[in-house]
Amino acid sequence: MNVKVNAPLLLNWYDTNAREMPWRISPSDRIAGVTPDPYHVWLSEIMLQQTTVATVKSYFNKFISKWPTLEKLAQADEGEVTGAWAGLGYYARARNLLKCAKIVSSDYGGKFPSDYKTLLKLPGVGPYTAGAIASIAFDKKEVVVDGNVERVISRLFDIKIPLPESKKEITKIATNLTPSVRPGDYAQAVMDLGATVCTPIAPKCLVCPLQQNCLSNKNGSQNLVPYKRKKEKKPTRYGYMYIVKRTDDAYLLERRPDKGLLAGMLGWPTSEWSQNPDESPPIVSEWKTYRTKIRHTFTHFHLEITLKTAFVNLNCKPKKGFFALVGEFNSNELPTVFKKAFDVHQEA
Ligand code: SF4
Repeated sequence: MNVKVNAPLLLNWYDTNAREMPWRISPSDRIAGVTPDPYHVWLSEIMLQQTTVATVKSYFNKFISKWPTLEKLAQADEGEVTGAWAGLGYYARARNLLKCAKIVSSDYGGKFPSDYKTLLKLPGVGPYTAGAIASIAFDKKEVVVDGNVERVISRLFDIKIPLPESKKEITKIATNLTPSVRPGDYAQAVMDLGATVCTPIAPKCLVCPLQQNCLSNKNGSQNLVPYKRKKEKKPTRYGYMYIVKRTDDAYLLERRPDKGLLAGMLGWPTSEWSQNPDESPPIVSEWKTYRTKIRHTFTHFHLEITLKTAFVNLNCKPKKGFFALVGEFNSNELPTVFKKAFDVHQEA
């Protein structure tokens, strides 16, 4: 494939079209010698794993106002961090975030290492995130391949192999294309091009700075590429969830096991989530069953929950969990599936 990507052309485009984000510095600031805060870059990259930019912006601002520096975050306790994270999902990220902050604080004097291999040793930092931090925060020549970059490169080179099989090929091409000049801006330029011009549907080839270099544009295949392997249908699991309210307005909560889905998070007691779950109520009581089902989708399955509620007196001794008054926990900081259940309970 004889495709030449004109990096200066792309950087010129980026200089006037870069997306503004709270964790970024503008191209003109970078040229003027301003450097991004590695804490901001790291925090945003961890949040952006599996989450859209639009959603991440408000969480990022919340974290930065609560913990303005990495040192402050390193002193937080896990419950506070997972609470502030609630709604972003994939809670292992929040726990690794805190672990990582503590390690950078204790082992690296509160300053993020700048080299890829050292970054890779930090909790929650995989190859993509290490590359992104090294490149964006420290302007190192590291390869950064996210979904936007995959799409741009697949189209530029008209790659016919479907994703994810083509990832290796894409990474190889991306590595060869990354320039020595302004590699951090270049990485963000490809991402921004993918997000705003080389969009998944109806790419705007007429305004694309790389149009002359693009094989898909030449071959008319830009609406077909990248090809994707057919996704397998997600199975549906079922379960029961129990909201128990005591006469003093305390609610029965349960901390989930340290391993598995929503590990270590607070929530309402539940049954197992499976094809054919048994009920396992936390108390013996008269239960009211809600007609509205709670539906939630996790990475590997859809969940359909039957919600039950009971009102109990102060003598109630649950088989599992503990009672907490409303002021002792924040329902907004529960994982989304539990929050959905609470909303249904409150609206009833
Ligand atoms: Fe994407 Fe079109 Fe640009 Fe090719 S010319 S990179 S398909 S926007």
